[in-house]
Amino acid sequence: MNSPYYMRFRVSQEYKHGVHDGLDLVGVDSKDIHSTVNGTVIFAGWENSSNHNQGFGQYVKIRKDNSNEVYYFGHLSEIYVRANDRVSVTQVIGKEGSTGNSTGSHCHYCCRIDGVRGNDKNICTISGIPNKIGTYDDGYRVGSVEYLKNSSYKGSSIVDALNEIHVDSSFDNRKRLAIKNNIVSYSGTPAQNTKLLNLLKQGMLVK
Ligand SMILES: [Zn+2]
Repeated sequence: MNSPYYMRFRVSQEYKHGVHDGLDLVGVDSKDIHSTVNGTVIFAGWENSSNHNQGFGQYVKIRKDNSNEVYYFGHLSEIYVRANDRVSVTQVIGKEGSTGNSTGSHCHYCCRIDGVRGNDKNICTISGIPNKIGTYDDGYRVGSVEYLKNSSYKGSSIVDALNEIHVDSSFDNRKRLAIKNNIVSYSGTPAQNTKLLNLLKQGMLVK
């Protein structure tokens, strides 16, 4: 998943091509908005500086490097970048808010080809965020290392704990996670699963 958030966020409105051209996302653990691409800021500011209730309100628009994809982060309360800034994936570019045509704090996250309205790409397909109202966990990052965390899980099953945060819990993916986390020759033993689970609960499971 590649969302503008670290850790948990909620999808509050689904993507519906032609009707709602992006996802409405609400940060649960943090309101920081991170760039989801390496690219160049092509706009950062108010959609209408004399009417802060119009459209996206305060928003950031980023053109992805070597691509015609332009990403929008709408309704922000604060902006930390300016037009022509270079930004990289994970960089904090602003704070979620409720500016513009909005009734509650959220970020309208969408992608338009060449920035043309109506030319939206399916944001769920390109970001991996499910097109379904619900709470998801995009882990968090320290430098370039991404981690998964599920500190609220109380049970003893790594499968259930991963499912709860909508991470693939198949044997193959657990094996991949085990290798990344230096658990050798993973075969799904209770001891190996407990190790994975403990790392996940502590937020130290490398993604
Ligand atoms: Zn929206």
